[in-house]
Amino acid sequence: MLLEHLKSKLDAIEAQSLTRFLREAESPTAPHQVVRGADGIARELLMFCSNDYLGLAAHPRIAEALAEGARIYGGGSGASPLVSGHSVAHTRVADTLADWFAPHIPQARAIGFCTGYMANLAVVTALGDADAEIFSEALNHASLIDGTRLSKARVTRYGHADVAQLRGLLAGSSARVKLIVTDAVFSMDGDIAPLPELLALAEEFDAWLIVDDAHGFGVLGKKGRGSIEHFDLRSKRLVVVGTLGKAAGLAGAFVVAHETITEYLLQSARNYIFSTASPPAVEHALLTSFELIEGETGQQRRANLRALQAQLSSGIAALLKRHPALPWKLAPSETPVRPLIVGGNAQVMELAARLERQGLRVPGIRPPTVPKGEARLRITLCATHTAADVDQLLAALDAAASDMERISA
Ligand SMILES: *Cc1c(COP(=O)(O)O)cnc(C)c1O
Repeated sequence: MLLEHLKSKLDAIEAQSLTRFLREAESPTAPHQVVRGADGIARELLMFCSNDYLGLAAHPRIAEALAEGARIYGGGSGASPLVSGHSVAHTRVADTLADWFAPHIPQARAIGFCTGYMANLAVVTALGDADAEIFSEALNHASLIDGTRLSKARVTRYGHADVAQLRGLLAGSSARVKLIVTDAVFSMDGDIAPLPELLALAEEFDAWLIVDDAHGFGVLGKKGRGSIEHFDLRSKRLVVVGTLGKAAGLAGAFVVAHETITEYLLQSARNYIFSTASPPAVEHALLTSFELIEGETGQQRRANLRALQAQLSSGIAALLKRHPALPWKLAPSETPVRPLIVGGNAQVMELAARLERQGLRVPGIRPPTVPKGEARLRITLCATHTAADVDQLLAALDAAASDMERISA
């Protein structure tokens, strides 16, 4: 009975062109990667899909630091942090992050998690108790939404970047604790939340601002400290979540906030207390990643990213002019996340398949990840792409656009 039940649900997923499948990478995360497709054949593809924005995942110094960390600390951490899984490498990572955010958050301290998903669940459930009301941005990441579902707080959604609506909601709230929860860079749109305005509301209405900077950390700000540095925010009301599997090129996540908040997370967050600490070798390698992010490598790579972003934007704008019959739209974005909105699920998968036949992997993103009718190619740029790589993408998109225009005509 269960199997038939699941089979009919799987059939319904397929009928909506929503089936997902795994591919196997056979080489490091990099713009040119060997990937085994659904047909079982391994090919080198030009990838515009990873979140490895600075190209650090395959950096030789990171691989070396990971190997060195394994020689020092061995494999796994063996236990949850409060039992025996916390190492000196974990402390160094947290201390570095606390220093980085000290100019922005008074009495800042950091606490580590194995993934961003876990960090978000921890913050939102631990702070979102029965005395709280959570004001949750409409386009928040699934992990923040799941946090609100697990929390005991009252949850109120506000529209995307709708500061005026949020102000009205905050003004009408009598909750003892008010939490504004938002992505900093929206993962499927690439735009940046109006954080200075949100923080001003937090100050005005005695609320706290929880910012998920998964796509800003490493990428935004002169030293790569993310959206908080980008806007040069400063407040004890900031609670910042960053992930370390994207621009930092490794794995893990952190929460940095006033020390009373991080201490409360350590004492009460169930997914901190009841989950094995990350491998110390990963933490050891993160210290090298942080050096690269804030140093010359990071600065050069961020500059290169901005140049690639400009090249892609102007190339796609010209392409859309050449194909006025197509309903495609480039989402406005100031980040390496550059979605091309195509519309229907079947159309976006057709476009992604055409690109893949030309040797490019750009993932199609469909509902429920994005709203119905707004299926899109999620193009992401890495600092290790070249201008020639972006030209190749633009040429492949142009060829696909011509074909699809002809078919739909
Ligand atoms: C990827 C992502 C997460 C989850 O981080 P992981 O470390 O991959 O679990 C959280 N929030 C946003 C906005 C993300 O894009």
